[in-house]
Amino acid sequence: MASLQDLKEELGSVTASMSSIQKKVDDLLERQERLQSRKEQIETEIKRRENVYEFSSSDGISAKSWDATDFAWSSTLTDTLREKFGIVELRAMQLEAMNATLSKRDVILIMPTGGGKSLCYQAPALLGNMTLVVSPLISLIEDQLISLKNLGICAAKLTSTSTKDEVKLIHQQMVSRTSEFKLLYVTPEKISKSKRFMAQLEKCYKAGNLSRIAIDEVHCASQWGNDFRPDYKILGILKTQFPNTPILGLTATSTEKVTLDTKKILNIPFSMLFKSKLNRENLFYSVKTKPHSFDGAIEDMSGIVKSLFSKQSGIVYCFSCKNCEEVSTALNKQGIRSASYHAKMEDLQRHRVHKSWLENEIEVICATVAFGMGINKSDVRFVIHFALSKSIENYYQESGRAGRDGRPAMCLLYYGFADIFKQSTMVMTEHTGLHNLRKMLEYCQNSTRCRRSVLFSHFGNEWTQELCNRSCDVCRDSDAGNAVSVSRYCTELVSILQKSTKSNERLTGAKLLEAAAGRGKLKTSDAEMKALPSESAQRVIVFMLLKDYLKEDFHFTPYSTISYLLPGPRASLLSKSDAKVHLPETSMEISSNSLRLSFAEFCETVSEANGKARASGVKRSLSACPSSSDAKKIKGRHSADNSDSIDLTRECQNESSPIVVEDSDDDFV
Ligand code: ADP
Repeated sequence: MASLQDLKEELGSVTASMSSIQKKVDDLLERQERLQSRKEQIETEIKRRENVYEFSSSDGISAKSWDATDFAWSSTLTDTLREKFGIVELRAMQLEAMNATLSKRDVILIMPTGGGKSLCYQAPALLGNMTLVVSPLISLIEDQLISLKNLGICAAKLTSTSTKDEVKLIHQQMVSRTSEFKLLYVTPEKISKSKRFMAQLEKCYKAGNLSRIAIDEVHCASQWGNDFRPDYKILGILKTQFPNTPILGLTATSTEKVTLDTKKILNIPFSMLFKSKLNRENLFYSVKTKPHSFDGAIEDMSGIVKSLFSKQSGIVYCFSCKNCEEVSTALNKQGIRSASYHAKMEDLQRHRVHKSWLENEIEVICATVAFGMGINKSDVRFVIHFALSKSIENYYQESGRAGRDGRPAMCLLYYGFADIFKQSTMVMTEHTGLHNLRKMLEYCQNSTRCRRSVLFSHFGNEWTQELCNRSCDVCRDSDAGNAVSVSRYCTELVSILQKSTKSNERLTGAKLLEAAAGRGKLKTSDAEMKALPSESAQRVIVFMLLKDYLKEDFHFTPYSTISYLLPGPRASLLSKSDAKVHLPETSMEISSNSLRLSFAEFCETVSEANGKARASGVKRSLSACPSSSDAKKIKGRHSADNSDSIDLTRECQNESSPIVVEDSDDDFV
């Protein structure tokens, strides 16, 4: 056994060792701090050198001014915009993107729907040889070709429907020094599947004719995005094969993660990123609990449409083709002229409906979410989601079809409990389907945080409260209700589900709701639970799903997929937490009235702001302007509405028997 003296000596030596280690730790920490600060410096410098230039109104102009008008091509670009497109004022980020692509930089441009992305490659195309445009749908390509033809610009497409003679002519033009057309449109499938086309593109590049490659809806390349298309993955080959041709990727919706992934897939790690602000001040965002019955929901929606938007244009997004028909019939019965528009209609019939909507013969178009990719009606006063969107990206894009004319418009979403499970069984087979839907549910379930802040933080945009300026239901008229402790209800719901598992009975969301209300075989005996209004019980169930206290369990039958509920992975933690949920207090009627009032006030605010902006001439003008009558003439042509496009592939995902309409093995319609 060690003597006391030995122990004292050992203590001395341990203490000395410890203080020596502590000194080393302090040194290392200090070094880590220095390295961290150096790391930040290097990152800033790399960002600066790559010229990643993100726009926000507070940014001002960064070191390199991409909106300068003294580039070598600036005066030709200005003339082209004016003479060919009738454009004398550019919108946010258009000039920056055009200058960057004309400088041969690879660019990713993120701009909201209707922001004017197409112009960013169409105008530069007229200053060079050939621009190859990769676009996801033939219908979108056709829309663009018609618009360009109206402007007297020669463009072509190569698709599976092109005749042998057309293909021959286009192939000749691709290598000709004096090519007639400046833009060639193809679908991504042409790149991935046609070796013959790729060989010709190689020749076009070698002849020095391939000035630029524009890739529309570029987020489709990323599996993290909402619209992943496998054929977009192959587009990385374009940079490998044609390293000196700049790429311009365009999208309306891309989170930071999707943008990074897209850059990687396209082999353009050093591309510049231009982001125009996502905020559209003229849109009022609102979410409303959907009445349980179909008739109740129609009545509520008709009341809002008739009182706020009488004889004005709107879109009502529905869950499926069948649902479009039902909603449209019901609205007509309520005296609102409407028609449905979906994939199961004949082309001609669909075209007629679209035309009569454009000409204001009907007010409301009831469409599946596929409708409207490329749509260009500027005076849409409301976009109502009668069904949940499948992701925030989709919702932002769909609701963004309102108010393109800058005048006030409403984006209203009816949040229905049953719709959650209809949608989850649809998206569960998609790579990130359930994750995306969860984000959408968080948007709907929220009643305390500004709607815009939820939307824009999703896209990684910085957010300040002034950006909303009370133009969403939460900021203007919060109906958040009180945060109520719901642990007791959660525990009871989990115990009902545990009983159901024991008795080999499966419960859907609707059945669980019934049990909570004291009905059915597994009914609760808890008096407080039974007394909870159905709307509140629904909120508790969604809260539990979002917190993983519950989970969905999908079962396949020959005809459909069913979502059952089970205790979730965190159910055992319930006893340790005090779960709180904001439960709504107001009735349907009160909430409709307050929405009407809020929107009316909002309209006044926007009109006032628009008046002030006009008075101070905030828009950026290009230097030389044509006479106003000239500009009007060309602008009329430019905005001629020829769009009649539809994304059938997406639309059909909402039907029980999916039809994927492809007109050949290598093109999407
Ligand atoms: P996006 O592809 O971003 O959804 P588009 O390119 O289809 O939008 O443009 C939407 C509409 O805006 C089109 O009618 C287009 O002609 C018009 N547009 C684009 N840029 C301008 C501009 N600077 N001035 C006026 N109209 C513009």
